[in-house]
Amino acid sequence: MSEQSEQSEQSEQSEQSQQYEQQLQVLNPATEEVVATVAAATAADVDAAVALATKAQRLWATTAPGDRARLLRRFAVTVDEHLEELALLEVREAGHTIGNARWEAGNVRDLLDYAAGGVERLTGHQIPVAGGLNVTLLEPLGVVAVIAPWNFPMPIAAWGVAPALAAGNAVLLKPAETTPLTALRLAELAREAGLPEGLFQVLPGHGRVTGNALVEHPGVAKIVFTGSTAVGKQVLAKGSALLKRVTLELGGKSPNIVFADSDLEAAAAAAPMSFLDNSGQDCCARTRILVQRSAYDRFLDLLAPGIESVRVGDPADEATQMGPLISRVQLDRVRAYVDPDAPGIRGKAPEGPGFWFPPTVLTGVAPDAQVAAEEVFGPVAVVLPFEDEADAIRLANDTPYGLSGSIWTRDVGRALRVSQAVRAGNLSVNSHSSVRYWTPFGGFKQSGIGRELGPDALTAFTETKNVFISTEGSAQ
Ligand code: NAD
Repeated sequence: MSEQSEQSEQSEQSEQSQQYEQQLQVLNPATEEVVATVAAATAADVDAAVALATKAQRLWATTAPGDRARLLRRFAVTVDEHLEELALLEVREAGHTIGNARWEAGNVRDLLDYAAGGVERLTGHQIPVAGGLNVTLLEPLGVVAVIAPWNFPMPIAAWGVAPALAAGNAVLLKPAETTPLTALRLAELAREAGLPEGLFQVLPGHGRVTGNALVEHPGVAKIVFTGSTAVGKQVLAKGSALLKRVTLELGGKSPNIVFADSDLEAAAAAAPMSFLDNSGQDCCARTRILVQRSAYDRFLDLLAPGIESVRVGDPADEATQMGPLISRVQLDRVRAYVDPDAPGIRGKAPEGPGFWFPPTVLTGVAPDAQVAAEEVFGPVAVVLPFEDEADAIRLANDTPYGLSGSIWTRDVGRALRVSQAVRAGNLSVNSHSSVRYWTPFGGFKQSGIGRELGPDALTAFTETKNVFISTEGSAQ
């Protein structure tokens, strides 16, 4: 490299870090008012946090399991005592409806409780072998980084934080740029509950600075990344340089398959909120509604009133079903996918300040059109007709993603056949449930790597060590 190009690269890097070393401005997506400004963590802050976490983790790993479980339960109780405060913070920084936000704060409490129950049950195996005793030990990894998105700031952070702590690790959480406030409050509540200093730290910041520093840091053993598939691939590539353990929870374009033999009224009634919940900013949103051709017209007739009557507005109002999108960037992105003259069904949205987009269902769209093939991450779905079971399965699988999906039918055999044939990690029959903390969650194909939640959640934050103890000891 010439001296000149080296100098220009250096000045580019310093410009970049200046560009990123700023305060994060948190906006209320419903009003565009500034809610707070938060200092963004630098690479040096990450270094210091890793050093503190490393010390804290050593102590934590040797704390008696019963005491660790008790502290995590106390953390759950403290979260429970601040449920309303956390929910209101989520409404203000993320525009979530108050009903959803309360559920999300409650989910953090439940995840902590569930993980606490695993601390004293994290058992290895005793394996029969010749000449001695063989046992496996499940040891913590060390310092784990959780990089979270903005769409469900509290629950998604807790999917990683709770089991990682329970398995004996320290955790560094990097929330998304737009939604750092609930994460910061959770870290305060953890300290209030008695968790040791440094064990759970929150590092708000930019993905390319703070997130990247965590991914590249040799002191971080595992990255749990939830976000876009594009960034997930970068995280995997960079993490692999140090052979880091990586869990990826990425994008989706999930099918909602409606067979003509289903309870069409029930399927149509459930369809709107299966992609409008959280304004469609949900990795599991059922945004490809596949309907058997013989029931297509009837289904659309049933669907229309459900879409048109969704109450979109002030997320703090108890009656609101759908709030704004997270940001202007997201609003522009969603707008770019939707031709305003395209045929379909449209709901209403407020005008004026705030990042509003109406519930939208497009018909007459080709399966390979951008809006039908890419993750829009907004309140937009397409309806596509199919002929028979084989055609439904072909269309459902015609995507690089494989996160979730729903199957509506009264035929049990068909429900099972289609569940087996659809390549996705989380399917539900005659319902749209996807994420429950008792059951494993994660994606096939480009929707991710690894699983979170469920009975094995803690194991994902351990290394298995095999120890053989010979019974053929030397004489004396
Ligand atoms: P994003 O990929 O832009 O950002 C996610 C997080 O990664 C943020 O904290 C961001 O700051 C950080 N980041 C960005 N660049 C980085 C880099 N180079 N190195 C390290 N960290 C970096 O995603 P988003 O827009 O915040 O979230 C929306 C996406 O998340 C959607 O694609 C959605 O499907 C996906 N998602 C997936 C799941 C799941 O469980 N599968 C759940 C929720 C959201």
